[in-house]
Amino acid sequence: MNDKQVIVIGSGLGGLSAAISLAQEGYAVTIHEKNAKIGGKLNVLKEQGYTFDLGPSILTLPHIFERLFERSGRKMSDYIPIRPLRPHWRNFFEDGKVVDLDPDPERMAAEARKVGEDPANVVRFLKYSADLYDLVNAGYFEQGLDTAKAFRRFYGLSNFLKFDLFRTMHGGVKRFLKTPHMRDIFDYFIKYVGSSAYHAPAFMNCMATIQFRYDLWYVDGGLYNIARGLQRLMDELGVVVRLNSEVTEVRKQDGRVTGVLANGEFHPADIIVSNMEVIPAYEKLLLEDAAFMRSLERLEPSCSGLVLELGLDCQYPQLAHHNFLFSGHQREHFHTVFRKRQLPPDPTIYLVAASKTDPTVAPPGCDCLKILPHIPYLDDEHPLTREDYLVLKERVLDKLERMGLRDLRRHIVFEHCWTPLDIREQYYSNKGSIYGVVSDRFKNLAFKAPKQSTKYPNLFFVGGSVNPGGGMPMVVLCGQNVAKNIVAWDRC
Ligand SMILES: Cc1cc2nc3c(=O)[nH]c(=O)nc-3n(C[C@H](O)[C@H](O)[C@H](O)COP(=O)(O)OP(=O)(O)OC[C@H]3O[C@@H](n4cnc5c(N)ncnc54)[C@H](O)[C@@H]3O)c2cc1C
Repeated sequence: MNDKQVIVIGSGLGGLSAAISLAQEGYAVTIHEKNAKIGGKLNVLKEQGYTFDLGPSILTLPHIFERLFERSGRKMSDYIPIRPLRPHWRNFFEDGKVVDLDPDPERMAAEARKVGEDPANVVRFLKYSADLYDLVNAGYFEQGLDTAKAFRRFYGLSNFLKFDLFRTMHGGVKRFLKTPHMRDIFDYFIKYVGSSAYHAPAFMNCMATIQFRYDLWYVDGGLYNIARGLQRLMDELGVVVRLNSEVTEVRKQDGRVTGVLANGEFHPADIIVSNMEVIPAYEKLLLEDAAFMRSLERLEPSCSGLVLELGLDCQYPQLAHHNFLFSGHQREHFHTVFRKRQLPPDPTIYLVAASKTDPTVAPPGCDCLKILPHIPYLDDEHPLTREDYLVLKERVLDKLERMGLRDLRRHIVFEHCWTPLDIREQYYSNKGSIYGVVSDRFKNLAFKAPKQSTKYPNLFFVGGSVNPGGGMPMVVLCGQNVAKNIVAWDRC
């Protein structure tokens, strides 16, 4: 047992992963979480017989989660029951075409032909995606590279061009795929990080491989069972979790952090890991000056979302578990959300109907839907009201009814809706962001903040605002990598 005390601020998946990984290294770890339950954006709502995942609903790269259990000599399947889904997604277009994404090459070829795409183009695109994934995974993901210097040392100049740095993600898609339908679908893999395919760097095309090579998974009973499984593991490892314990200050002395103030009480620590995002943590807990805060401007938030849950008294048989209803003008959709930062007139909508494969999440004969259009993060200088967001909600319902969910409004028996204002309030994310920092070729080349503070050597960060960024597997990987960094730094 290491006698050093670590405090983790926040129990999002990144914080939980860091806490578990550090406890496995022998540190005494305490998590302070402001909310009444762990998980952060991995969140659940149970009402009137319906169970909704309020946050993530797609699990990818489960082998990254598995490592948390393996390192304690356990098997994840004893804690978290998962299964692959088919199809991965169903894609609906305004012209009535419907295309499934399926990792089986024969099935995928048949789906491509439905919209006139030569299946060989999809195969070539997926090979391009796989090469990018292997490149990005070797260093950026698995080594946890944080700085340009570390990047240069690991990859060397010879690998530089392999990142396809002179194209956007859409540019990479367009090279291989020729039909607007297939382009829209593969562009929309950017949804995993809440950014724009027209502004993200081409190497973000690695995300198709995350799904096509490693599959897309569901957690029986809903994704919150990930949090429940991790809680069991933490109990076994002796990680202390203090709920309803908001950290309001991080104290510092002589260039180091010394502990946190929570519920008016000071808790000393040798090392602090903040799962609160980097910008709010520096601004609100460390009270850094304006000059320092300006140095973080490249860490612009990812998009936010309108998160709408509907309990229905019927089922829509045409839906799959995961569905995308595309904007008729996706380029404009991205431009409106990520450049003009306005509510989109015709958004692309992600719709989850977990009741398609899990009968426990809705009453018999009923669907439970989670609906998520991506929308801009909060702009405090030009704030929108809840009423503005509710106008968008009506547009979303209009679009769903137009695209096949006939009389949807008449079948709603339960409704819950969170706007970016609620998301910020719930998780203290920067401007209501849902995936941390945006991946933008021009603003930050998809780099997020480093895991170790540039100001206080014993302060570390974990989660969506830190490399490699948002999405459940990435923040879990970040937690494992931050623990490695802490151990290496602590021992030298
Ligand atoms: C609607 C939605 C859909 C999504 N869909 C997917 C998906 O399908 N697949 C996927 O992989 N990812 C998805 N994501 C993204 C994914 O949920 C996040 O990237 C990930 O869960 C974020 O983890 P995190 O470690 O950054 O912490 P967060 O989840 O942001 O948690 C931070 C925690 O810190 C706490 N906290 C903050 N400040 C303080 C403080 N001062 N004191 C104490 N506690 C504090 C917060 O309460 C919170 O619990 C989705 C997110 C949302 C919101």
